[in-house]
Amino acid sequence: MTWKTIPSTFTLNYMIKKIFPLFLSGALFLGACQSNSKSLDASDSVSIDQSEEKAVQETTAAEEVTQQKSGKIASAAEILARPQVPILCYHQIRNWIASDGKVGKDYIVPTAEFRSQMKMLSDSGYHTILPDQLYNYLAYGAKLPSKPIMLTFDDTKLDQWTVAIPELKKYGFKGVFFIMTVSLGRPNYLSKAQVKEMSDAGHVIGSHTYDHQNVKKYQAADWVTQIEKPTKTLEEVTGKEIKYFAYPFGLWNKEAIPELKKRGFTSAFILAEKRDENNPLFTIRRIIASGYWNTKTLHNSIVKSF
Ligand SMILES: [Zn+2]
Repeated sequence: MTWKTIPSTFTLNYMIKKIFPLFLSGALFLGACQSNSKSLDASDSVSIDQSEEKAVQETTAAEEVTQQKSGKIASAAEILARPQVPILCYHQIRNWIASDGKVGKDYIVPTAEFRSQMKMLSDSGYHTILPDQLYNYLAYGAKLPSKPIMLTFDDTKLDQWTVAIPELKKYGFKGVFFIMTVSLGRPNYLSKAQVKEMSDAGHVIGSHTYDHQNVKKYQAADWVTQIEKPTKTLEEVTGKEIKYFAYPFGLWNKEAIPELKKRGFTSAFILAEKRDENNPLFTIRRIIASGYWNTKTLHNSIVKSF
């Protein structure tokens, strides 16, 4: 993986973003569009005084993967025509217990099985990508590594920290963790400190509402409770902008999309159903890696579903 983070500068970067948003959108991102690892060098900065120039250098040094801000975004038809990147959705990673129900087991991947799935992906030459890379690919046609795949983890379970993170690390993989903030710090769920550490290690944190309510049922105030406040909490925890959202249960409707856009999200993730013909970036498909699958089934599903 080429993405390395520089945690100590992120809080500063975040503040700079909030203080100089117009400046940043104009000057900073012009040079940050081609490569996932290239930083904008000082010679690309124009018409700014020295203190601002210093701030830009510090910001861009840390932002090795950013969304491309210049150029025209592809049309929905163009985005839909690009080959889809396989995206897996995990929930719990632990051995089944007697009280686990038939349906529940779909969402619980036994530990040894998860380990062999990660090994299979690595042995098969897959490279994990992160949402900024996916966005740049879909919106601007940016190049991806060979055999790209995205690994996502929903619902804030502690075993994502105890089992998944060390396993990802073995293979240089990075994941995307969609957090519901009501659970943070509860027994058997991730803590804020763990979420921060995951973010600092280069994994991406996304928003998954306050307490997993169905987006299709939101009234006006729910957008504040379920989306705005929890996302702000995650931004405070990570010191980074939160730009990605996963719909609880994968459920979405057309009305939700402008609401998410208004609140600064740039993409949102559904499950295996059809994407929206006008807003494919807000209906990016994932498949649930079922607890019943072995590595062969998983591989077949990856190939078949995307
Ligand atoms: Zn969920």
